[in-house]
Amino acid sequence: MNNCTLRLVKGDITKERVDAIVNAANRQLLPGGGVCGAIHRAAGEGLAKECREIGFCDTGEAVITNGYNLPTNYVIHTVGPVYSGREEDAKYLSNCYKNSLKLAVKNNLKSIAFPSISTGIFGYPVREASNVALKTIIDFLKENGKPELVEMVLFSNNDFNVYKESLENLISK
Ligand code: ADP
Repeated sequence: MNNCTLRLVKGDITKERVDAIVNAANRQLLPGGGVCGAIHRAAGEGLAKECREIGFCDTGEAVITNGYNLPTNYVIHTVGPVYSGREEDAKYLSNCYKNSLKLAVKNNLKSIAFPSISTGIFGYPVREASNVALKTIIDFLKENGKPELVEMVLFSNNDFNVYKESLENLISK
């Protein structure tokens, strides 16, 4: 759309060769578990050090660091909401995607890969989250015409299939 590509990929985000990968971080920007742990393990100690220097990121906000030993130049860290079942969850989740995309554009990055933010340890139901994620990305690309490539990297077959169905539904509307 708008000369940009949105692609769903099944795989491990730490292997993606894009300008930036997005980390589903926590507010303290600590290594932690899930995709965050995997990104820190693959990036090496330099990433944890830079995160310690930044110190904090609020829910829905995003910060950028170098990629260290990752095949990507940058990591954009965004903090998803812990699922509460309240209406505000979707707003915070949408802000994660929007603010990460804004940061990518501000830094002239052409390609960015997202994991499924908040749907692991933070408990956001995947189908609901997929609609928020995809709608936010599509709206951003329609409005801004960049970055050139946005990938959603889904770790399981089930997540991939749910995102695929949601995308098909959104496009056919
Ligand atoms: P959160 O705390 O935001 O819920 P998690 O890391 O627990 O973050 O989970 C977010 C999503 O990332 C989950 O769907 C999980 O399966 C997925 N995930 C875990 N490891 C990887 C990886 N290496 N690449 C891509 N996605 C991953």
